[in-house]
Amino acid sequence: MTSAPGAAGGGPARDPGRRSAIVARRLVTCDPSRASSADPLGVIEDAALVVRGGAVEAVGGRQEILGREPGLEIALEAGGVVTPGLVDCHTHAPWMGSRDAEYAVRMAGGDYEAIAAAGGGIVASMRAVRAATTGEIARVLRARLRRMAALGVTAVEAKSGYGLDEASERKQLEAIAEAGGDARLPRVVPTYLALHALPPEAGGDRAAYADTVARSWLPAIAAAGLARHIDAYIDRSAFSVDEARPVLERARALGLGVRAHVGQFADVGGAELAAELGALSADHLEHVSPGGIDALARAGVAAALLPVASFTLQQAPPPVAALRAAGVPLLVGSDANPGTAPTESLPLALALAVRLYGLTVAEAILGATREAARALGLGEVCGAVRPGLRADLAVWDLPHESAIVQPWGAPRALAVLRDGEVIAAAG
Ligand SMILES: [Zn+2]
Repeated sequence: MTSAPGAAGGGPARDPGRRSAIVARRLVTCDPSRASSADPLGVIEDAALVVRGGAVEAVGGRQEILGREPGLEIALEAGGVVTPGLVDCHTHAPWMGSRDAEYAVRMAGGDYEAIAAAGGGIVASMRAVRAATTGEIARVLRARLRRMAALGVTAVEAKSGYGLDEASERKQLEAIAEAGGDARLPRVVPTYLALHALPPEAGGDRAAYADTVARSWLPAIAAAGLARHIDAYIDRSAFSVDEARPVLERARALGLGVRAHVGQFADVGGAELAAELGALSADHLEHVSPGGIDALARAGVAAALLPVASFTLQQAPPPVAALRAAGVPLLVGSDANPGTAPTESLPLALALAVRLYGLTVAEAILGATREAARALGLGEVCGAVRPGLRADLAVWDLPHESAIVQPWGAPRALAVLRDGEVIAAAG
């Protein structure tokens, strides 16, 4: 089906002068200039693309590309479908430890918020992160990123948020930087999840904790260049809009992009705040008012849908039809975390987005490629197959992109390329 997937790897692809071709029976470009209402993914049958120095130089029909340059080396020939590498826009990937015991309690009828109140949940992960070294967290994260790559993922947003004090948050972010420096893994976008939960030593004083974050920890983390984005968990049993606003405003003033967890359990006005601050995404949104949806649409804030978490929690889906009708861009993330989304699989999230949320396959794929890249500030780097972007690709052992959301639980990426080089291959 696919010949010589390793031929695109081995180092030479980053040689700025080296050019080679990849041919595909079916190429899903996600290029808006090729898309139409009948073909939202901009698919080219019997396609070829030219890779030069790890970037896409040309895209077109096989005859057109190879006819111009019959001698061009074919580095990879895909008999199935090729898509942009998947982009996971929401993960808590640098977690430590396991919360399997807590999961078992919850499955037996325990309540998530009650478990958190009893010292489980995020605080349990906090203890594991605080007990680990930077190197240990980086090693766990690298292994996780390697497994994500094998599922077709070439870019991952990774949040801190399990340290809950300055040194431990920095430690998580430094581990993200360490793992993110490895070009053989997916590219990593670091987010400082500044307001996630209260550590026990905060004594329940959320306002004082948020004030310390805004005045002290955040400026230091921003000055160290450890995060590109800020995030805050704004919800009934998390932080309020009034507590989150000064932190997010300060982060914006320091040049960080804003993202926020909003409306997972209750609508407390988080979507409106995300819109007011020009956030890149508002994530979860199981609970959001029509006014909140309008505000997101007017401000151009994307909705990051996290169906694995609502599946785990047996929640009703977000109002996808209303978000779609308002023109809010839809993203799909894995929400990989040890509590509510115990998975590393973005393809699983895509499957659930279609099955539970009613996304079309095209919406799900765009929400995990082009739209996700845009919302991570990677719109000019990856997320589509078009000239000028990096050659980040997933070669699937599947005849059609619709099948990406179907064989649940089985990795079906044959080869995964970042910068034109193979970073994961089946077998
Ligand atoms: Zn999350």
